[in-house]
Amino acid sequence: MIQLIKGFKDILPGEVEIWQQIEKITVSLLEDFGFKEIRIPIMEHTELFARSIGEDTDIVEKEMYTFRDRSGDLVTLRPEATASICRAYIQHKLFAKEPVQKLFTIGPMFRCEKPQKGRYRQFYQINAEIFGVASPLVDVELIVLLTTLFSRLSVSDIKAHINSLGCPECRPGFKAALTDFLASRTENLCSNCARRKDRNPLRVLDCKVPGCREEMAESPSLMDYLCPECLQDFESVKTNLEALNIPFVVDKRLVRGLDYYNRTTFEIQTGSLGAQNAVAGGGRYDGLVKELGGPDMPATGFAIGFDRLAEIVRLNIPEYVKTPDIFLAVLGKQNQSLVFEWKCALGIKGVKAEMDFSGRSLKSQMKRADKMKAKHVLIVGDNEIKEGSAILRNMVTKEQVSIPINGIVENVVAKL
Ligand code: ATP
Ligand code: MG
Repeated sequence: MIQLIKGFKDILPGEVEIWQQIEKITVSLLEDFGFKEIRIPIMEHTELFARSIGEDTDIVEKEMYTFRDRSGDLVTLRPEATASICRAYIQHKLFAKEPVQKLFTIGPMFRCEKPQKGRYRQFYQINAEIFGVASPLVDVELIVLLTTLFSRLSVSDIKAHINSLGCPECRPGFKAALTDFLASRTENLCSNCARRKDRNPLRVLDCKVPGCREEMAESPSLMDYLCPECLQDFESVKTNLEALNIPFVVDKRLVRGLDYYNRTTFEIQTGSLGAQNAVAGGGRYDGLVKELGGPDMPATGFAIGFDRLAEIVRLNIPEYVKTPDIFLAVLGKQNQSLVFEWKCALGIKGVKAEMDFSGRSLKSQMKRADKMKAKHVLIVGDNEIKEGSAILRNMVTKEQVSIPINGIVENVVAKL
């Protein structure tokens, strides 16, 4: 039997309703906050990701699904959405119509990393990006949006972690100090960190290996290296979060695995997911639009890990399944076409109607209606058709009434 590819997964009925609910609640909230949807392709020229995410990042070095297509072009299944949204913002000159653009997208991402709980090779993200606003208040707005979303989804075990990654002015000083610090401790780092400590030292800060975490406890902090502008910006983020009563912690180890971030960076972490505890991550990436050939335009955004969110929401809201308004139990195959017409007419009127095409006994059809949690059952056989009236049973009260077949669709609708 052919099985799924490792690290990929199916989302089956029963689980998919949670995803739909999350999506509905999220989209409505994003729209309340002024975001518009953008849909972007799942494949792009490899260069887009290599240039934006950075050649020395884990994603570009070893996680991307990259291949040559039939015309020989080097293409990649997108590992994240920000680069594509920026590309679209630049390519369609959205900034020319209105520099401030608030965009969101929802869809699958692909990273060939080690599959485990909360970590898949095809996973889903909800992305939101704000272009054209330099004020740190919009970073705060994004965090407010996320905490509002989690509260609407009844997810309570979360905390916002924030940090500043500085800017091209002040980060090099910190990078140098960090590189010096790491050089004195190479033998205690995991092999991954020992390799990346020179090329991408910031990434060592959020290594999940316990030995590295211990080692990094005394590492220099970016906070001590921020330039006055970055510091003022970060103070403003903190003051405004406090004013809004949003709990947060300043986490000096918080960095992102992508090179384009600067200044405010944040992550929403949960206590309910074990090791893969980040449900959403984001921050400012002021240099990226220009780097990709667009105007010098500040930008900030976040990505929610949909799979991880679905995992914790399931713990909190009861299963949600839409049950049929009516089940049409038809006796005798010769009557199926007629009843099928009624079922279609009910569907057109917006009634969720189901019927049985097996020609099985009334008892087994009633059993099936019960299992589907149908609210009503309409019973129709030769006798009912001869007498011109069908039986409508309310499955909750068990009450049965007889309703005329002449004008049956309207008669049923009136009774539901
Ligand atoms: P992590 O440190 O968990 O690897 P990341 O820094 O690689 O996360 P981002 O690129 O910032 O993650 O993506 C944002 C969110 O997408 C993460 O917070 C997480 O919830 C989710 N995510 C990232 N990679 C995966 C994956 N392989 N499977 C499921 N969800 C993922
Ligand atoms: Mg990762």
